[in-house]
Amino acid sequence: MGSSIDIRLETLTGPRGVSAGWPSNGKAFFIETFGCQMNVHDSEKVAGVLLARGYQQVDQPDAADVVFYNTCSIREKAAQKVFSRLGKFRPGHAPEKIIGVLGCVAQQEGEEIFERAPWVSLVCGSASYRKLPDLLAQIESGSRRVMGLDLDVEETFETEVTRRDNPFRAYLTIIEGCDKACTYCVVPFTRGPERSRASASILEEVRQLVDFGYSEIQLLGQTVNSYRDPSARRMAFAELLAGVAQVRGIRRVRFTTSHPRDFHPEIVQAIEAIPAICNHVHLPVQSGSTRVLAAMKRTYTREQYLEKIALIRRAKRPISITSDIIVGFPGETESEFEETLSLLDLAQYDGGFSFKFSPRPNTPAQHMADSVSEEEKGRRLAVLQEKQRAVQLARNEALAGQTFEVLVDGRSSRAEQWAGRTSCNRVLNFTSPGASLLGQYVQVKVSRAGPNSLVGERTS
Ligand code: SAM
Ligand code: SF4
Repeated sequence: MGSSIDIRLETLTGPRGVSAGWPSNGKAFFIETFGCQMNVHDSEKVAGVLLARGYQQVDQPDAADVVFYNTCSIREKAAQKVFSRLGKFRPGHAPEKIIGVLGCVAQQEGEEIFERAPWVSLVCGSASYRKLPDLLAQIESGSRRVMGLDLDVEETFETEVTRRDNPFRAYLTIIEGCDKACTYCVVPFTRGPERSRASASILEEVRQLVDFGYSEIQLLGQTVNSYRDPSARRMAFAELLAGVAQVRGIRRVRFTTSHPRDFHPEIVQAIEAIPAICNHVHLPVQSGSTRVLAAMKRTYTREQYLEKIALIRRAKRPISITSDIIVGFPGETESEFEETLSLLDLAQYDGGFSFKFSPRPNTPAQHMADSVSEEEKGRRLAVLQEKQRAVQLARNEALAGQTFEVLVDGRSSRAEQWAGRTSCNRVLNFTSPGASLLGQYVQVKVSRAGPNSLVGERTS
């Protein structure tokens, strides 16, 4: 990427919303995002594309000429949300508005969206975002229906302008798409094959982010550690982590999501050696049963996964571990579910997300007999979450008395109450008098713990 510009939301608010300082075209856009962090960051880039064309950003669809929904189809509930949003614009309600559907539902449903919601003008999947400026140009010159649904196999989505929403942490996609083939997952279908960005371009953007005031970077990818530098430099993922952490001005580097198969000792060694690489790994297991893992095509057994956990727990620096788990995968028996529960005891996760299996279009698991009833999936999820809550509470309570550096990113409505994140990705709430601490690094001693956050006192 040549020279690019980053715009933070709070810096450029004009009468109708956020503008990039480009000559205004007098029109405004609204974008709502569903789903994962990668979608959130894609929306930041889409907003950049629109700002560079003279649109201004507004925070209400009613005030917008262009309304975009950046959608998620990972589970059925998420996919349904966009159709309920689109329902608000039935013909005649807002004929002058341009409505666009982006992201995974766009890729999955394609032209069908025009059938279900004829008032939609643009449908574009994330693997075609490079074409967005062209698609917008076609709409601006009067086309009523445009589509971008190719799964580009070479290109990544790079923009001249990115409008970053989070003033304290900058997200940066280093690998798009996914080449794994988990049988329950729509991502390989909706986001296309893996494409990594060249390391020099990533490092250049990190330097620009520092110039813009960021000290914390989060590297993103569906399988971030499957990164393969396409340039002659052939930087390995762990080297890239080190390279980003060593950019002058960078204090924290995060990365998500790691796939267990590509999680190698070099990543742990990099975290041990370089304090700026945050001591947190998100390493989804999905199930504790080797049979279910094979049916999911996760490419590792329970034992191989637990070896990765042991590798991380042996590190010289404590590293927190979080996970994703699916309950009620087709054919999951009670005893296989109990294997997942027993894995929670062994893995001792510091946090995570858990879901009921949701059959998705175009995935092999859609055609497997969905043997677990909705009610039983709900029961398993509740049991699992209760157990994980107890694990987290115990792990958090063990931190009482320790002091952590936090980057302050929130302020409570109560006076002098602040929230920050530790390097190990825990939320730490604390009291401190005085001026705004937002964006600052401060030391906080933990006094109390709950399952999802810590409470402490500022020490410096
Ligand atoms: N790429 C990451 C990985 O491999 O772990 C995360 C992909 S996905 C955006 C986030 C999580 O959604 C997955 O880890 C999985 O637990 C969950 N998920 C994906 N497909 C699902 C499905 N069909 N039903 C329920 N949960 C699902
Ligand atoms: Fe989906 Fe599996 Fe790829 Fe993650 S690794 S995005 S779960 S296919």
